[in-house]
Amino acid sequence: MSETPVHLVVIEDEKPIRRFLASALDGDNWVVHEAETGKQGLIEVATRKPDLVILDLGLPDMNGIEVIRQLREWTDLPILVLSARTQETEKVLALDAGADDYLTKPFGVAECMARIRVLLRRRNQGSAAPVQTFGFGPIEVDLVNRTVSKHGKPIHLTPIEYRLLATLIRNSGKVITHRELLLAVWGPSFSEHNQYLRVYMGHLRQKLEDNPAMPQHILTETGVGYRLLER
Ligand code: CA
Repeated sequence: MSETPVHLVVIEDEKPIRRFLASALDGDNWVVHEAETGKQGLIEVATRKPDLVILDLGLPDMNGIEVIRQLREWTDLPILVLSARTQETEKVLALDAGADDYLTKPFGVAECMARIRVLLRRRNQGSAAPVQTFGFGPIEVDLVNRTVSKHGKPIHLTPIEYRLLATLIRNSGKVITHRELLLAVWGPSFSEHNQYLRVYMGHLRQKLEDNPAMPQHILTETGVGYRLLER
């Protein structure tokens, strides 16, 4: 991290979780502003102008998804959602409403920091030069010439497979929902056709993963979507 501290607003009514996040983000590099309600959170974000928002979906005064909608009316800053295991549907709605990623409670410090780092890195990349090549594991993707190789050997992808891969790459490290992928690759009239995704993701994994049944890079986020891991 740079010397300029990263400002976060944590909108969460459960004090133990606020405490947990505050201690995980302790030190000179982090400034954590806490809010207990959605209304208070919206005010904190507007006044503190943070680098990232951590938002619990179960708030006492308003739905977390409504908080996301109101924030997205005026800001594109990264939003990391906290959800309970029982909030599977809300989690997907939150991501489709514009949240960038999620953590399911209970979560550990390492997982939390990894999510935060990905979102901050993506935010900082926003103004940098566009990425021309992208690599993960043995795979190299030339985004200018639209070519893919594995261990240096060219891999042929169909146009749809390539668009799918390019969309995963644009969102690398963060979750991308079924709906987002369908919209990006097939367009609005296909946003409910999850079976298309399953089939084409299967093809992509066959071509890119060493063991398609146990993918190391194109991961399934059960009930939510997919995540491309760079490792
Ligand atoms: Ca809560």
